[in-house]
Amino acid sequence: MSFQELGLAEPLLQAIRDSGYETPTPIQKQAIPMVLAGGDLLAGAQTGTGKTAGFTLPLLHMLAAGAPVKNRNGRPAIRALILTPTRELAAQVEESVRTYGKYLSLTSMVMFGGVGMQPQVDKLKRGVDILVATPGRLLDHHQQGTLDLSQVQFFVLDEADRMLDMGFVHDIKKVLAIVPKQKQSLLFSATFSDDIKALADRLLNAPKVIEV
Ligand code: AMP
Repeated sequence: MSFQELGLAEPLLQAIRDSGYETPTPIQKQAIPMVLAGGDLLAGAQTGTGKTAGFTLPLLHMLAAGAPVKNRNGRPAIRALILTPTRELAAQVEESVRTYGKYLSLTSMVMFGGVGMQPQVDKLKRGVDILVATPGRLLDHHQQGTLDLSQVQFFVLDEADRMLDMGFVHDIKKVLAIVPKQKQSLLFSATFSDDIKALADRLLNAPKVIEV
């Protein structure tokens, strides 16, 4: 099966060709059509399986196909929120978003703690379609009133098991309380503990399940 057969738009296929990928990995073959079909997804996948492209490619496709949403200032509103446990992973995921989305006119931003708030505030003001963030800094911005998540349509928890291991469960619950109820959600985790299952029950609506 090829990337083309998975139903991705031409600008994404071009970026995939530029990356030198020839065939989708097993998780991509399963996840991409499921995400494009619009349902929630619970995916068991380790790093190295191509999981990042497995969610960023269909997310970019859906965002490009959907109507742009503007915020109060007439700038792109955040339509996709991707949460990761660490800064490094957040930066890596946003890099993938930029690489695969280079022929689309969507904007992305990475947000994490340990650096100044103001440059992040400035960037948010210019408008962002896709936000990749670690939970703590995201909540800091929300508390300060510098972050509007009211237009989120797509929500991804990447490496959810690591997030729980790092003690982010309360932060995740707080984030869930400030994003719209009506959205498409994807949860990626290398392991499926009872805690992950409980989180999945809370977040996901009749999810399709993939394990690779
Ligand atoms: P990930 O599991 O998302 O961390 O991806 C692991 C690595 O696989 C990354 O370096 C990707 O660039 C690469 N990769 C992702 N999808 C493919 C593919 N279909 N073919 C070849 N390499 C890929």
